[in-house]
Amino acid sequence: MQGQPTVAILGGGQLARMMCAAATRIGVRTRVYQATDTGPCAFCADVVTGAWDDADALRGFLAPADVVTLDYEAVDLTTARAVMPSTATLRPGAQTMAWVSDKIVQRERAAEAGLPVGPTRACSSLESLREAGEALGYPMMLKRPRNSYDGYGNRSVASAGELEDAFAALGGQGVLAEGWVPFERELATMVARRPGGEARAYPVVATYQKDHKCDAVEIPAAVPPEVAQRATALALRAAEVYDCVGVVGVEMFLLADGQVLLNEIAPRPHNTGHYTLDACVTSQFENHLRAVLDMPLGDTSLLGPAAAMVNIIGSRSGPSRNEGLGRALAVDGASVHLYGKYDVRPGRKMGHVTAVGPDVATARARAAKAASEIQP
Ligand code: ATP
Ligand code: MG
Repeated sequence: MQGQPTVAILGGGQLARMMCAAATRIGVRTRVYQATDTGPCAFCADVVTGAWDDADALRGFLAPADVVTLDYEAVDLTTARAVMPSTATLRPGAQTMAWVSDKIVQRERAAEAGLPVGPTRACSSLESLREAGEALGYPMMLKRPRNSYDGYGNRSVASAGELEDAFAALGGQGVLAEGWVPFERELATMVARRPGGEARAYPVVATYQKDHKCDAVEIPAAVPPEVAQRATALALRAAEVYDCVGVVGVEMFLLADGQVLLNEIAPRPHNTGHYTLDACVTSQFENHLRAVLDMPLGDTSLLGPAAAMVNIIGSRSGPSRNEGLGRALAVDGASVHLYGKYDVRPGRKMGHVTAVGPDVATARARAAKAASEIQP
């Protein structure tokens, strides 16, 4: 691609924000289309706010695009695909999106390709859910197939008596029932993959979830080299199976016997890869842009021995205030990232802190200290 290519991003959340910032370094133009202005992309020069089915607005927005990419996988692409110029390419592509945007379809694809996954059942009624409970045992994890993220859309059930309420709470349509995976650790790896299949993996990281959502990440994961190799191989294989173009976050479970299972993938920059902004040669956001533009991928290695990331999560409702920011900025070794969301809500991701250090424990303590100073 010559000159200054244009990447049009559908969705205006923090991932789009960080993609736009990364684009400025390598002479890539970005523009953002969002359904509502929640704040993260307010600083971007070229933002359009409109409905996902507004053909005229989307046509005008997409006209200068060389590549169209996504900030989150729940975007309804119907109208955008219909009005996209024929010279633009959607990356990740429509087939990838069809495979991943429904958790049931995503699981079917993994099983078909022989990727190691835990036991699951697709359930369309309370009756079939009861049968799944008998087959998979309790506790069981129920997942709404679409529009689920950060644990919104997941329910764990301890017994058959909880099924009816959980099924209704998840929409009462279909759910993916998963057998409980007694994992020892959760791992994740970002992979950047170009259209021709060339791919590079980032280090394997350990992820820590609170209330079903990512709370902290330690880099690298403290696992034997052989486990890291298998996790990396699984992540690269998953990127290929779903034919991902761009970066893809691959979430995995490590079992006590050393097995590594796939949990799920997200074909975009991912919370567990935010550390790459401060701790790797090339960030996941820059590599996403390079990959969707079919440009050479950047070095994915760590710049130092260890890093850690801690999310800044809301605990009240109202306009965001970022109290304590000065104290957070004063923590050595820590890099503070705020997403510019106008409003805070309990559980909402408002920013993150990455810290580097001589070892993971030091890095984690620095990141946690800075993150705890900020009251978004
Ligand atoms: P996110 O957007 O944060 O990735 P999500 O809403 O897509 O979350 P999952 O990744 O499927 O949801 O699940 C969130 C967390 O719930 C996992 O990281 C893990 O801690 C736990 N979890 C999910 N599935 C299982 C399972 N089958 N057994 C045990 N724990 C599970
Ligand atoms: Mg997940």
